[in-house]
Amino acid sequence: MQINEDLIRTVVQQVLAEVGPAPAVATSGFCGRHGIFTNVDEAVAAATEAFEKLSERTIEDRKRIIDHIRRISIDQCVELGTMEMEETKVGRLEHKIEKLKTLGERTPGVEFMRSEVFSGDHGLAVIEHAPFGVIGAITPVTHSLPTITGNAVAMIAGGNTLVVNPHPSGKKVAAEGVRRFNQAIYNDLGIDNLICVIAEPTLETADAIFHHRGVKLICVTGGPAVARAALNSGKRAVVAGPGNPPVVVDETADLDRAAKAIIQGASYDNNLLCIAEKEVFVVDEVFDAMLSAMDRAGAVRLNASEVDALTRVAITTVGEGEHKHDVPAKELLGKDAAVLARAIGKTVPANTDLLFGETDETNPFVPVEQMMPFLPFVRCRNVDEAIEKAKYYEHGFRHTAIIHSNNVRNMTKMGRAMDTTLFVKNGPCMASLGLGGEGYLSFSIATPTGEGVTTPLTFTRERRCSLIDDLRILGKP
Ligand code: NAD
Repeated sequence: MQINEDLIRTVVQQVLAEVGPAPAVATSGFCGRHGIFTNVDEAVAAATEAFEKLSERTIEDRKRIIDHIRRISIDQCVELGTMEMEETKVGRLEHKIEKLKTLGERTPGVEFMRSEVFSGDHGLAVIEHAPFGVIGAITPVTHSLPTITGNAVAMIAGGNTLVVNPHPSGKKVAAEGVRRFNQAIYNDLGIDNLICVIAEPTLETADAIFHHRGVKLICVTGGPAVARAALNSGKRAVVAGPGNPPVVVDETADLDRAAKAIIQGASYDNNLLCIAEKEVFVVDEVFDAMLSAMDRAGAVRLNASEVDALTRVAITTVGEGEHKHDVPAKELLGKDAAVLARAIGKTVPANTDLLFGETDETNPFVPVEQMMPFLPFVRCRNVDEAIEKAKYYEHGFRHTAIIHSNNVRNMTKMGRAMDTTLFVKNGPCMASLGLGGEGYLSFSIATPTGEGVTTPLTFTRERRCSLIDDLRILGKP
């Protein structure tokens, strides 16, 4: 049979045009895993290999990789947000969906990268921001896939790859999201495993990541125990730790505006945000008027005996001896306001955003990071007492504090006293992340280690390149 070479060439060209070019990178033993691992050593090896491949690529390729993560987070937010809600069983579905979309849209990417230049009599020094390599990330149950999405965008923008140990109660959605991200990236750019996830995460796998020689930096997002563990790991750690954000309302505040902002912030995802309003200190002069403003804005007020009943079921004690402390009860953490109300035999409309009530500062809702949509309001003699209590009950986390006031002196006084990473005036907590205020977004806000709202630059190391006596082009030849 005579072979028609022209015909074969045409057919091959047509097929290639339809399927696109083959992945440009040779496959390895880990290719096709799409980031799913049960073994930490394998995950780190795969992420290391992915890092080597990423290092050969352009900034434009990094952007293309991130665009896949963004597209999936945005286009598939309903499906993945529903998965997250069904698995974690904390928070609110509409906000699970919205968080994925928002992080996909607004997490800073490669556009945030920059270099600095010093130009002077002795030439030119350029400071560039290089990747660390493989980053070990620990993520919380409160935002399992959203934290991975934000971390992945920022870390890859900085040129890194990551191995994630998700919270065990959010591991399935973490793995599914990571699988989708990697598959899309691999199909387009031929690099697999840029984001690796431990599919059966435990404290032991977290510990193995903390101490793995191939992991160059740790980023943990979580409560006090994991923050402590990361700080004791012996590795450089970016720690996005716990908060207990207090709110102060003084006599100059626009009370209706304050009430709307407090409800928006404190009820979002049923108060799971680390930045969310957790306790409110109001000056006596406007205390009753403030509670009325909360009524008008749609929150449901509990009376003293209802607050006592809720406290008994919603806060529990753990630990022994000096380690004994109050924590939110698991059954009510992140549940709807209507569920909290039902737990004390009260019926409220199903769409109630927030419950609130007057307490004194000894009520455990004040010191505990409750992560549920009930806010305690504490009456204070004046703004100084309110600020003093806000400072005390923030526990020195230096995370987030909020004031509603039109008195610049009071704002300044509180800002100085609190010394928090985020300080919000006259808005809901999320305004400080660029959602209704200025600034940019991340769900990993590094508090004890001081990097603040993390960006791609957080996950880079500085390298300086100096040229002595030349290339400053200013001055006479
Ligand atoms: P969590 O501390 O129970 O768990 C967080 C992660 O750490 C999980 O993956 C968990 O498995 C792991 N972990 C817990 N103890 C560990 C240990 N000893 N060693 C290694 N890993 C450990 O917190 P959570 O309930 O999932 O999330 C809520 C907490 O996270 C709140 O305290 C909240 O303020 C905080 N948070 C902080 C930020 C921030 O940006 N600062 C963002 C989100 C959540």
